Amino acid sequence: MVTSSELQSFIPFNCVSRVGTETRYIEQAFAALHISGDGMFTRRCHEILEAELGVRKALLTTSCTHALEMSALLLNIQPGDEVIVPSFTFSSVANAFVLQGARPVFADIRPDTLNLDDAQLEALITPATKAIVPVHYAGVGCEMDAIGAVAERHGISVIEDNAHGLFARYRGRPLGSFGRLATQSFHETKNFSSGEGGALLINDPGLVERAEIIREKGTNRKQFFRGQVDKYTWIEKGSSFLPSDILAAVLFAQLEVRDKIQGKREHIWNTYQRELASWAANHGVRLPHVPPHCEQSFHIFYLLMPSRDDRDALIEHLAAQQILSVFHYMPLHVSQMGRHFGGYPGQCPVAECVSDRLIRLPLYSSLSQSDQARVIEAILDFSFPRRQPHAPRDQMLSRR
Ligand SMILES: *Cc1c(COP(=O)(O)O)cnc(C)c1O
Repeated sequence: MVTSSELQSFIPFNCVSRVGTETRYIEQAFAALHISGDGMFTRRCHEILEAELGVRKALLTTSCTHALEMSALLLNIQPGDEVIVPSFTFSSVANAFVLQGARPVFADIRPDTLNLDDAQLEALITPATKAIVPVHYAGVGCEMDAIGAVAERHGISVIEDNAHGLFARYRGRPLGSFGRLATQSFHETKNFSSGEGGALLINDPGLVERAEIIREKGTNRKQFFRGQVDKYTWIEKGSSFLPSDILAAVLFAQLEVRDKIQGKREHIWNTYQRELASWAANHGVRLPHVPPHCEQSFHIFYLLMPSRDDRDALIEHLAAQQILSVFHYMPLHVSQMGRHFGGYPGQCPVAECVSDRLIRLPLYSSLSQSDQARVIEAILDFSFPRRQPHAPRDQMLSRR
């Protein structure tokens, strides 16, 4: 017997975004006889990022991870330094600084936006604190006014991890324009993608020259090509952080039609919210919170289920209908590496609680209306394994 689920096509969680001009631009990069870094497509990507975000300098990198590692080198992070990172995030955010000998200090997150809890930030600062890395989760801005004020008071650098939030805004100003440095990701799973890729955004003009050197194997090659010096040579520590212009060609194709890509994601995101709002309210499920002063990037649509059992059961229920949903992050402070740095269960209770209950729904620009309707219908059909709408954990999360 063929069941109905076997007749249904598989709906992935993410699907490679492709706008159609990528291969033509790759051909153009070959035709220009320049497929190493810093060719014409890299330049065009830099122009878009600098103009749209109002940052002093944008530099494409091979990944967001590498942009974070460049940040650690630029800020001269040393053994013994401390860097404050949210626990509810990707390992690279801490790892980039650990590579230079720093100790990550894990901050809990706000229950509403799941961003670094600015109210708890000041208590984590010590004389060894060198940087704070706010991550704009789901492309909803962190409380940059509060974070910026704390950083300024203590003379600490802010590095925004804006992997999720390209073209989003906080109080009208683009994310990525607040920190001394900011980082972007163009990994396959992000809104704009070259497969693997990233960018370092520099707002402190005093860091531009060294950033170019660090990105070019510690040499002043960039100044040489601009005719500013007549020989290029080894200046300081660095590595090879610049992507091939083939990857920049792919990225440029997508950045060029950014409004179209973002518009599709916005429509899908809003449809989830509209169609799931009353179901969520009836079942104690929390939908994403976007404060009125934040314009988001529509990177993630998540559900915060009442319990871990409910979350796991919903993932299974969707999988049975050929729909892939996923969860993240395993909080860094209780990871094997996090514990090595003194992390312990209970240290960041909101991160732990959210990590147990969060589920991400399929969201990609080519998600068809009918496939999205199938996801929504499957969710509305879900029967909860047991009800605990007033579990203590829920009260904690509704604190704000
Ligand atoms: C994806 C992601 C990264 C890493 O990006 P890569 O380009 O894969 O290195 C870093 N931080 C956050 C918050 C991310 O989501």
